[in-house]
Amino acid sequence: MTANLDAQADALARHSYYEATATRPAADDPVLEGVQEADVCVIGAGFAGLSVALECRARGLSVIVLDAHRPGWGASGRNGGQTLVGFAKDEVLEKQLGAEGVRAAWALSIEGVGLVRERIARYGIDCDFTAGYLTVATKEKRVPGLRAWMDAARTRWGYDRLEWLDAGATRERVASERYLAGVYDPFSGHLHPLKYCLGLADAARREGARLFAHTRAVEVVRGERPLVKTPRGEVRSRFVVSCCNAVPGGVLPAAVAARIAPIASYIIATEPLGRERADALIAQRAAVCDNNFFLDYFRVSADDRMLFGGRADSTGAAPSELAEAMKKRMIGVFPQLAGTQVEYAWGGFVDVTRNRAPDFGAIDPNYYYVQGFSGHGVALTGIAGRVVAQAMAGEPASFDLFAQLRHARFPGGPAWRRPALEIGMLYHRVLEML
Ligand SMILES: Cc1cc2nc3c(=O)[nH]c(=O)nc-3n(C[C@H](O)[C@H](O)[C@H](O)COP(=O)(O)OP(=O)(O)OC[C@H]3O[C@@H](n4cnc5c(N)ncnc54)[C@H](O)[C@@H]3O)c2cc1C
Repeated sequence: MTANLDAQADALARHSYYEATATRPAADDPVLEGVQEADVCVIGAGFAGLSVALECRARGLSVIVLDAHRPGWGASGRNGGQTLVGFAKDEVLEKQLGAEGVRAAWALSIEGVGLVRERIARYGIDCDFTAGYLTVATKEKRVPGLRAWMDAARTRWGYDRLEWLDAGATRERVASERYLAGVYDPFSGHLHPLKYCLGLADAARREGARLFAHTRAVEVVRGERPLVKTPRGEVRSRFVVSCCNAVPGGVLPAAVAARIAPIASYIIATEPLGRERADALIAQRAAVCDNNFFLDYFRVSADDRMLFGGRADSTGAAPSELAEAMKKRMIGVFPQLAGTQVEYAWGGFVDVTRNRAPDFGAIDPNYYYVQGFSGHGVALTGIAGRVVAQAMAGEPASFDLFAQLRHARFPGGPAWRRPALEIGMLYHRVLEML
């Protein structure tokens, strides 16, 4: 089952703009063989696992990172690149953590965006980071909610950089008739996620972490000195951190794995539009996201393409193909792009929890996991790595802040059943379409 789904997930990334425009190392990291030892064994080489590796190396711990595929194979190499402060459902954090707790969590999320910017500078990662982020409302009934969110961020959550935009000001920033209001954040922004992820992997190797590719963790034998078993060997370590995200095949106990579900999200990239035309679509090339439940997120790439993402309907009998469905959504926002060619289309799984709050926890005092970033993983994964490393070093306060969040399981058995159907259909659509 896992191998089958992995093959389908591979196919979804095959037509990815990111894979086409990033340079992977000439050779993959080696496959792990025999018995290896390290202070920390990290499972998963996405943003989260690589952040754990960097933060542990900064504290002098030896690190092994295992990936069933290779760095950036998962959501970290496929996402919208939107690098933003806050959480998917801030009100959940406020309710569960209280006034002080939510403020502390927000401070960490702001630190998360700062950390992305810092790492780009420190490790010289060329990933097209562009500052500027717009949250927009498409429906009259969602305008008051957007305003209330901005006011709460300013007054209760300690973030005073946000600027309110009325309909006219929003249209000056996004060349679309669709939006009725917006909030502009000059600190959040967007980047090329695969270039960023490969840059983190490169930095982790340079800092002394040992990365292994095509090495699936098949079992974690818990204990004082846990063992992570792989098909051809094992890792003995003091700490294990699972950063496997939402694609099935992780090693976590079923009850923990069922706290997240993989929700498919898709992105298209148009042909290059030319600098002038691209600039005219979104002022200063900010990233944009609306505040609907099935939201659209989009941005202009460094090479002047429109990258437009969202949740195309991939269930039921709708015959339209992925790229066509996404193109329709894009034209709904920008009718002026009707004649534009779509050159890339790809998909991946957003790791969501039921309440959309992130899920960090410890299965044992030396076995951590981080998951459920719920569409805010680009920035929050960095912080996840930092707070896990702090906890290992005996400073658990920030980790514990997140770990106290309560989560429910998704109903209907293992989280992968529904997406198994969904990805199966999408797989055939992508193959038909491109
Ligand atoms: C289409 C899409 C758009 C998105 N847009 C945004 C956005 O604009 N902004 C934002 O903040 N977030 C966004 N997200 C979410 C964000 O990408 C994720 O939250 C984030 O990348 C999660 O990082 P991760 O390291 O936890 O997981 P991943 O990047 O998925 O990495 C997990 C890794 O674990 C490996 N693995 C799994 N099981 C095992 C095992 N048993 N043994 C060894 N390795 C294993 C996998 O091969 C994979 O490489 C988006 C996600 C998708 C799919």
